Amino acid sequence: MIIDTHCHLDDKRFADDLDDVIKRAKEADVLGILIPGADIFDLPKAREISYRYDNIFYAAGVHPYHCKDYDESILEEHLKDARCIAVGECGLDYYRLPESESEKAEVKEAQKEVFISHIKLCARFDKPLIVHVRDANEDSFDILNKYALIEGVTGVLHCYNASELLLGLHKNFYFAVGGVLTFQNAKSLTEILPKIPKERLLFETDAPYLTPHPHRGKRNEPAYTKYVVQKASEILNISVDELSKLSSDNAKHIFKAFSKANSAKIIS
Ligand SMILES: [Zn+2]
Ligand SMILES: [Zn+2]
Repeated sequence: MIIDTHCHLDDKRFADDLDDVIKRAKEADVLGILIPGADIFDLPKAREISYRYDNIFYAAGVHPYHCKDYDESILEEHLKDARCIAVGECGLDYYRLPESESEKAEVKEAQKEVFISHIKLCARFDKPLIVHVRDANEDSFDILNKYALIEGVTGVLHCYNASELLLGLHKNFYFAVGGVLTFQNAKSLTEILPKIPKERLLFETDAPYLTPHPHRGKRNEPAYTKYVVQKASEILNISVDELSKLSSDNAKHIFKAFSKANSAKIIS
């Protein structure tokens, strides 16, 4: 079995054919899916989906792009829910910052503050963290080092971006690899993949985004995790079966709710 550890099933692009998407996932041996929080207003939808299917869970968080919508009390309500098994996605994303230096600094500060709040929620609710990092390796490393490690917070660096610096967090964090690995220009990820400790490796789609080859350009979906596992299996010279087992065991370790999942009948 494979677990897609990061898939936005609450995205409106799945609204019309979610049952079929889940069915195809199951046929592709993807028997567990975690829906990360991104837009705080979509969390009720993520929760509803997680109750509709057996081995789908969700997380409560606010993507750095939406950090001005952050509301701790809303996240707290979700984190009391048994189907809500992690905090995130959250983190730092400096890819699109305003032009002016003062505004730039303001946005960065706001993102950092919200990121740190998420980490504190992990410690309080004893749930792992799902981290999003784009063009912000140093600041993310500093915050995780300073806040997460001290509090004993563990988590996942989702859509791991091949940063050597972030790999240094491997004692506490897992690294989730997605469709980017199958892209022609995935050189840095291809090179760093063998350096990720095997007991820290996870797979994800980040669907509907980052569709792997050969479906690039179309909507991504959880069934396509198999293309990522396939590519990783070629690079690491480990069989697809072995890699599927290894990574799903890792996923069950960090996200304990998946540990009951071991038959093909999980998603009903
Ligand atoms: Zn993300
Ligand atoms: Zn995401």
